[in-house]
Amino acid sequence: METKRSQELYEEANLYTPGGVHTSIRNVDPHLIFTKAEGAYIYDADGNKYLDYQAAFGPYILGHNHPYVNGKVIEAIQRTDLYGVGTTDLEIELARMICRNVPSAEQVLFCNSGSEATYHAIRLSRAVTGRTRLIKFQGCYHGWHDYVARNMLSKWDMIGKRDPGSAGMMDEAIDNTLICTYNDLEDVERTFKENDGQVAALIVEPIPHNIGCILPQDGFLQGLKDLCEAYGALLIFDEVITGFRHDIGGFQKVAGVTPDLTTMGKAMANGYPIAAVAGKKEYMQRFNTYPGGDVWFAGTYNGHAVGTAAAIATIDLMEREPVHEHVFRLGERMRSGIREIHARLGMKAVVAGFGSVWTTYFMDFMPQNYTDLQHNDADFYVRYRKKLLERGIYKMPMNLKRNHVGYSHTEQDIDHTLEVIESVLKEMLA
Ligand code: PLP
Repeated sequence: METKRSQELYEEANLYTPGGVHTSIRNVDPHLIFTKAEGAYIYDADGNKYLDYQAAFGPYILGHNHPYVNGKVIEAIQRTDLYGVGTTDLEIELARMICRNVPSAEQVLFCNSGSEATYHAIRLSRAVTGRTRLIKFQGCYHGWHDYVARNMLSKWDMIGKRDPGSAGMMDEAIDNTLICTYNDLEDVERTFKENDGQVAALIVEPIPHNIGCILPQDGFLQGLKDLCEAYGALLIFDEVITGFRHDIGGFQKVAGVTPDLTTMGKAMANGYPIAAVAGKKEYMQRFNTYPGGDVWFAGTYNGHAVGTAAAIATIDLMEREPVHEHVFRLGERMRSGIREIHARLGMKAVVAGFGSVWTTYFMDFMPQNYTDLQHNDADFYVRYRKKLLERGIYKMPMNLKRNHVGYSHTEQDIDHTLEVIESVLKEMLA
């Protein structure tokens, strides 16, 4: 695989930008410079073409540069843009669509990123309850801010310990975020008891996709809701990945568990920047967009025509076309195909997933939480991923992350990918 032009450009990028990338997790080997994206494919500066399953960490559910979404964005910005006061017709239409589809969304507010959405939801929960503490789960990611940037992909000896994700974080924020083990209701109950009257909210990725795809055990999400109710805390579903990807109503619709607040982003606008916080009206009216509200909510670019038009087009397409039926069918074809390959090769590996998402763990049992993932063979994954890349299959670069099937992938794409996976694994095991 020729990557000479990418390497030259990467050296130049380093002159102007620390590490040459604008998000830490983008700094992976080899350093590719991307120049074009279309449907299921992405292209680098050397003209290499990749079948993309990373989907930019999840936004692309319809495929890259989707003509219908792009068309609606262009149509919108030829007519309108951003005003700084008032409300646009696009914002009203999108809010209506979200409230129609997402069970917990009695009202909704727009911002620009998932991190902003979780920040606002947590601050709101503190205002509503008059408490400060937050429960999150080891391995879940909710953005870059001090409230949540900890105990994500921790080193193994830091599981369950105070593990700030960044230098420069506020001690007070770190100490007020309590860490529990996913799929362990006893641990959550013990934490609530030990901090009785102090927990404002529990935030959870309903499926922790930031460590691949760990499914909630039967009754786990309902159990969290019951515990939040019993201890007077708000339940926040962070559906930044699961929202619109697993169902137009989010994973809450699939699970039949309605949280107090929901955060959304990514697949909501098929790659365009917009996110949302939604929830019960009585809580949402505490934001100071509402007259008399006392919880600050602001943002110069909130509700910009580009993001709102893209989200309207994306949700509109999901309402009219069999988007979820397609991605679920192809996701299942991929998972069962990989399982058959593992069985044929006698491999110690499990394939986890839901709907359009899949993750291969190189271990011999299905993990239930982050601790279990110590058994995953990370070195094998990194070598495997690199070999797939050389054969034109673009998977998540990081060990433990997930892969996504989109509406633009075809049966032939999946079958081709399975052929490549089998040949790469055979080569690695030889
Ligand atoms: N919540 C979840 C579940 C995420 O996966 C992410 C990002 O990957 C975020 C929040 C933060 O979103 P953003 O990167 O848009 O700030």
